[in-house]
Amino acid sequence: MKILFLALFSGAALMAAQKALAAEPSESARLKIFSASTGKFESVAPIDLPEELWRERLSPEAFEVTRKNGTERAFTGKYWDNHEEGLYKCAGCGTDLFSSSAKYESFTGWPSFYEPVARENLSEHVDKGFFMTRTEVRCARCGAHLGHVFGDGPPPTGLRYCMNSAALDFTAAKVK
Ligand SMILES: [Zn+2]
Repeated sequence: MKILFLALFSGAALMAAQKALAAEPSESARLKIFSASTGKFESVAPIDLPEELWRERLSPEAFEVTRKNGTERAFTGKYWDNHEEGLYKCAGCGTDLFSSSAKYESFTGWPSFYEPVARENLSEHVDKGFFMTRTEVRCARCGAHLGHVFGDGPPPTGLRYCMNSAALDFTAAKVK
């Protein structure tokens, strides 16, 4: 009896969920993304563009990295040696990703951070390319490939977000 009740109940819940999805497809797909300027989470729609549009919007380097999972050569990007204070945003959609306060010297030739402005602004994926298992990091809003995260970073997180400069847009903090 209990099993039957559970089956009926979960069936009804599923139907209700499906109905809700059908009624508001855009609402259900919305994301919670942290805005560093307001200090709050905002509800935003994901950005899903065809490849031709990304090619038009992005520089060739940014397109290769963000849409083709490319990796810029070490010590060639514009930000590995950037020491200015400010915010690193997604080159694809402008989502806030990393603060200069979490940037550190990793001596790898890629801009490295020990934490993002919010984990919600990134998505992580298993990457089994090049005979290794790594954790790929993408922008949660537009799916841009940004780089990888490794477990050999400094305190307080012990993480190393190894990013491609070409996937980022830096905005310097306003001088007070
Ligand atoms: Zn993005």
